[in-house]
Formats: sequence, C-alpha cells, structure tokens
Amino acid sequence: MSNKVTLAYDVFVSDPPPRNDGVLPNGEPKGGSPVASTLIYGSSDAVLTDPAFTTDQADALGDWVAGKDRNLTDIFITHGHGDHWFAAELLAERFGARVVATEGTIAQMHAAIAARSLLWDKVYPGIPPSPVTAVTVPNHRFTLEGHDLVIVEVGHSDTDDTSVLHVPDIELVVAGDVIYNGAHMYLGESVVVGGFGPWRDAIDAVEALKPRHIVCGHQNKHLDDSAERTIAETRQYLDDADELLRTETTAVDFFNAKIERYPNHLARTVLWAGASALYGVREHPDEDVRQVILAGWL
Ligand SMILES: [Zn+2]
Repeated sequence: MSNKVTLAYDVFVSDPPPRNDGVLPNGEPKGGSPVASTLIYGSSDAVLTDPAFTTDQADALGDWVAGKDRNLTDIFITHGHGDHWFAAELLAERFGARVVATEGTIAQMHAAIAARSLLWDKVYPGIPPSPVTAVTVPNHRFTLEGHDLVIVEVGHSDTDDTSVLHVPDIELVVAGDVIYNGAHMYLGESVVVGGFGPWRDAIDAVEALKPRHIVCGHQNKHLDDSAERTIAETRQYLDDADELLRTETTAVDFFNAKIERYPNHLARTVLWAGASALYGVREHPDEDVRQVILAGWL
C-alpha cells in the first residue's frame, strides 16, 4: 500500500521586461515573450522549472514560490536560452535549491553567457550575475516525495539540446520551447539545422509521452494547458511557416502574413527575430549564420 501524496502543479508567467530600443516593422515597440515557470509540489517539497531572467522577475517569482510554503529542492532548466534561466542562481540561493539540467543544456547555458554582452545585456537591463551552477542527475531522473520526474532529451526544437520534464504520475510535461501556447514561436535557429524537421521530431517525442497537460515555456496565461491543443497548434504554426516561406518574398511580408494568421499571438518581437534570420540567411548566404541570427534580435 502506498500512501504517497498526489503531486500538483501551478504556473507563474513572467511578463517580458520592457525594451527601449526601437520598433518592429509594424511600428509597435520591441518587447519579448512571457516566460512560464512551473512549480510541481507535494505536501512538503517542490520543484521549480525555468525561472526567467531578470532580478525583478526573480523577486516576483520567488515571492510566489515562498507563498506556496514548500521546501524548494530543485530548479530544472529545460534549455539554454537565457530568458529561461539567467535568474536561476538568485532563486537557488534564496531557497537553498539545486539547479538541474542535462549535459547538453549546460553546454548551451555557457553559450548563452557568452552571448550576454552581444545580445541580452544590450536590450534588457536588470539581468543578474548568471553563473552556470546546474548539475546533471543520474539516469535523467530525480524524485519529488517519491514521485519520478523524468528528463527527456528531444534534441533541436527552437534551439539545440532541448529537453522536457515529464511527470508521469500527473500526466504533465513541462515542455520548455518544444511546444508553444498562444505566443509566436522562435523560428530563427532552424536555419542551423536545415528547417523544421528536427523540431517536428521533438514534438513527436513529447506526444509519445501521452501527456494530458503541457506547460509551455512561452504561453498566454489566459489559455489552458491542453496537451492535445498545444501540440496541434505548434505543428500547425510550423506548417504555416513552411507555406509562408514559399509564398512570401521578404521578412516583412512573412512577418505581416503571420500576424494576419495569428492576430492574438503574443511576442511579435520573437516572430520578427525569426523572420529576420530566415530571410537573412536566404538573402545573404555567404554571411556567418550565427551573426545573421543575432542581428535578428537587435
Ligand atoms: Zn524560449
């Protein structure tokens, strides 16, 4: 007989910090994307995922976590993009928690640090020191009050070396940037891997876990967490992108056409960064791909 307490989870969405450095092609100010952090908890302990990236966000998220009155044991990072984890150490120190990631994600975290002065600190003030303190765990799993939390590596999605956290006992996948929910998807790094094939494979890998609930790394907080809907919409967004890459001749045309199809999606700055990279590589095949990707954000 098991008397294990059932786990539960709750989600905190950090709004993107403001930028003051120009506008998008449609004239609206540049911004960012909301980042979702998931708290999975039992009766006394809890695990947090992807704790966002500015000091202000960490303070607000930390207060929310503290209000749950659980002992935070681990902070799991799904992938290396800085907006998901630059604040991890602040929260790790506040709660005495361990930071956990895969070996591939840890390598990408170091790459994100190298990009701070070229990108992140240029456009966002208030990012704290972000040492990489994450460690791997044996067999890609750790536990929360006796329940397995399983790290599943899914390869390239919107960047390299991405992973998701599967909590089988509550049919939950914390999907990082593999699945999106009501926010424009970051398409730019597909130029490194020749298209959206690897991302589609990553979506298939999430679907194979048969989740009922998916928390997406970027989501409109007013939408639900239906796994079926978010998986279908993420696939459709990539299919639309492939179609528009054939029919639209410029990045601005692609940007406008996507907004027409997704008028309520958040994070148009992310859409523009991706469009800039996709068309930048097409128009300037001799340029360094990494430079083209970076330029899309600036
Ligand atoms: Zn992201």
